[in-house]
Amino acid sequence: MAIKKVTSHPTQNEGLIFERSQTGRVGYMLPKFDVEAPAVEEILPPELLRDDGLDGVPEVSEVDVVRHFTRMSTWNYSIDLGMYPLGSCTMKYNSRLNEKVARIAGFANLHPLAPEEEAQGALELIYKLQEDLSEITGLPGVSLQPAAGAQGEMTGVMLIRAFLDKGDGEASHDRRVMLIPDSAHGTNPASAALAGFTVKTIHSTAEGLTDMAHLRELCDQGGVAGLMLTNPNTVGIFEKNIKEICDVIHQAGGLVYMDGANMNALVGVARPGDMGVDVIHLNLHKTFSTPHGGGGPGCGPCCCSEELMEFLPTPRIEKTGDKYHLNYDLPHSIGRVKAFFGNFGMMVRALSYIYTHGAEGLREATETAVLNARYVAEKLKDTYHMPYQADCMHEAIFSHKHQVAAGIHTLDIAKRLIDYGFHPPTIYFPLVVEGAMLIEPTESVGRQDLDAFVEAMKDIDRESREEPDLVHGAPHSTRIGRLDEAAAARKPVLRWKKDMDSLSKGA
Ligand SMILES: *Cc1c(COP(=O)(O)O)cnc(C)c1O
Repeated sequence: MAIKKVTSHPTQNEGLIFERSQTGRVGYMLPKFDVEAPAVEEILPPELLRDDGLDGVPEVSEVDVVRHFTRMSTWNYSIDLGMYPLGSCTMKYNSRLNEKVARIAGFANLHPLAPEEEAQGALELIYKLQEDLSEITGLPGVSLQPAAGAQGEMTGVMLIRAFLDKGDGEASHDRRVMLIPDSAHGTNPASAALAGFTVKTIHSTAEGLTDMAHLRELCDQGGVAGLMLTNPNTVGIFEKNIKEICDVIHQAGGLVYMDGANMNALVGVARPGDMGVDVIHLNLHKTFSTPHGGGGPGCGPCCCSEELMEFLPTPRIEKTGDKYHLNYDLPHSIGRVKAFFGNFGMMVRALSYIYTHGAEGLREATETAVLNARYVAEKLKDTYHMPYQADCMHEAIFSHKHQVAAGIHTLDIAKRLIDYGFHPPTIYFPLVVEGAMLIEPTESVGRQDLDAFVEAMKDIDRESREEPDLVHGAPHSTRIGRLDEAAAARKPVLRWKKDMDSLSKGA
């Protein structure tokens, strides 16, 4: 597709800022010196002076810059624009109120090095959020330091490692095997490996659950440090044998780590601590309000049982009388995992989210999230292949099996959804389902939007049979059509060079 180089209308394609450059154009001008200025060479050592004359830096005015980036910002799909059904990611709409609370000057402008006595409000907020997350998960120990789900996982498995290394039970420190289901998120094995464990994979059953026989067999092989399990699991099904699973692992001398990225299906209804789980991470940026995507800040609280608490990261926030203080004197702690206290703004949003919902509201949000996913599952079950029969929790999984006969794959369906105005769901994850489409509507979608999404999916199925080329070539409504994603990943063009013809040529 040809792309116009430099345009000025928001509905047209935007060139690169380099292509907009005009020699001599500047953003602003400083007044002339009214004193005699020394030569640059007298101020800076010569080896620090560049000699390429800033070749290639775009020469543009302020309005050029503002319009260039504003136009591009309108190309983004966002949660403020519409539904974002990315399974496993919980891309829900978050109330503006939580943003407003996070911007309260006393929270937003507090310096992380402020002395304890001047930061009592912030420490109280962190403390209270820890208490609430402890109640929600049923686990007494909480650290809000980790800055992502994956870092929360790593913190959690490090707690397991510290616990085993300290233990004087039968060769605790020889336990180095972490069991992880084949459907797990890729961060699970990565976290286990980083904490020094060897990963063994557990099979799933045809029903999409952990294979108990295989679990027992792996436990019998010995050396088991623990299990990392997502619940509801990554195919959106609640592991109904969770108590038995925890028993088997505990009897084998290991601990149970639950990946809590799917807590949007459980909050206010069921607590991992009550299921026998020893340690879990949450994603505040999925379940508890902070918007995510685009690499924004994260917060992956790590919550653990009583016996793991002494290993939690330092410092711990403690309360004596009505004063809050930081305790660094924790000899068994795994140490710090993040500077200061983690991403504080997200904690403010999370507490605001919890308080504005209340216990009843949290439960209702969870129930609505599950209801919405089941609605989509019910409406699409005759159109798209559902690999598992069990009722789904907060996300519904389908595959492209029925459409493949017409040569239409998951990628084509996802791209065509863009033409219908929807962000595609998560595709080709988890790996255990071939051509997977993992759809998580979340509680923040109303009936009309769900129906529009279902209709779009049905239309695409019809097109797959009647007009397959239309689906193959999608998207058709975007500025740039179907990209060669393999080439983009393998031969990325990341740098503009002066004599480069327009980048857009190949697009
Ligand atoms: C999102 C997610 C993670 C990782 O969380 P990040 O904050 O992206 O590091 C881990 N496990 C599951 C199941 C997830 O969906």
